[in-house]
Amino acid sequence: MTLTPVAPLPEHEVRVRAPGKINLSLRVGPPDEDGYHALSTVFQAVSVFEEVVATPSDVFELTVSGPQSEVVPTDEGNLALRAARLLAERVGIDAGVHLHLVKDVPVAGGMAGGSADAAAALVACDSLWRTGLGREELVELAAALGSDVPFSLTGHTAVGSGRGHLLTPALTRGEFHWAFAVQHRGLSTAAVYREFDALHQGRHVPEPDPEDDVPLMQALRAGDARALGAVLHNDLQDAALSLDPGLVEPLAVAQDAGALGVVVSGSGPTVAALARSRQHALVLAAAFTAAGVADRVLTAAGPVAGARVVSATD
Ligand code: ATP
Repeated sequence: MTLTPVAPLPEHEVRVRAPGKINLSLRVGPPDEDGYHALSTVFQAVSVFEEVVATPSDVFELTVSGPQSEVVPTDEGNLALRAARLLAERVGIDAGVHLHLVKDVPVAGGMAGGSADAAAALVACDSLWRTGLGREELVELAAALGSDVPFSLTGHTAVGSGRGHLLTPALTRGEFHWAFAVQHRGLSTAAVYREFDALHQGRHVPEPDPEDDVPLMQALRAGDARALGAVLHNDLQDAALSLDPGLVEPLAVAQDAGALGVVVSGSGPTVAALARSRQHALVLAAAFTAAGVADRVLTAAGPVAGARVVSATD
């Protein structure tokens, strides 16, 4: 008797969740010869999640649902699809995949939604295809896809150096509570870095120094939200404000509503406000809504884990 390989049942699916992130600190150095900036950053993964559902297919295809899904590319420009193809090439698998993205992380919001999708797609396809790759090999593929993708795999709180992709876990205690003012207009990360360069033209930009974040690391270790709020830092904030001056409003609203600290998230335009408690995060979110300074508001807690399989069926 000859055994023929059995094609996976169509209902075989793997469901993976990956978090968005904020940069508690983002220190930006001068551009190198390729135009990339050395960074020293402290990432925190927060409980705003992307979900990626992978099912077998002969081709590589992608569908999207959730807020702002209409502006997400479904072609090869989508980082999740690129992640799936990269993994297939790496392990020499002659198969496609259908990826369905359920988006919740703001698009082009400075919270690494695309990177979360890429990390989730790597984990989902790795499980679907039973590649047997180790975590380290997945992290290597993640780094090839984008500098925020390794952190989306790892999650929790971590210090990032290089282009943000070299990670060291950070010790934290307890939970921190956040409210976010989301703008649908988005900001291009590349444009924000160009504006950073323009604003610093003719001025010395020092190499980013992780020592500058010692007080922030102490606040995290102590679980001291008040101390953390006082030292949130983003070198890209002035560039984001220069491109989108309307962002001063959500920053001011959060301060008036008693936020412990408020900062533009990554390259913006999402504004992240640190709250005293879960209840206070809801108060901050209500203040954003009442003032009409956000297209959407979110509350979340951090840190949370990185990309994880939440269910899989055979
Ligand atoms: P980062 O903080 O890493 O710079 P971001 O959160 O500001 O990223 P993303 O939502 O990741 O921004 O997407 C930026 C752009 O990338 C989008 O405007 C879109 O054109 C493209 N893109 C590619 N793949 C995706 C994806 N899976 N989800 C959303 N946008 C994607």
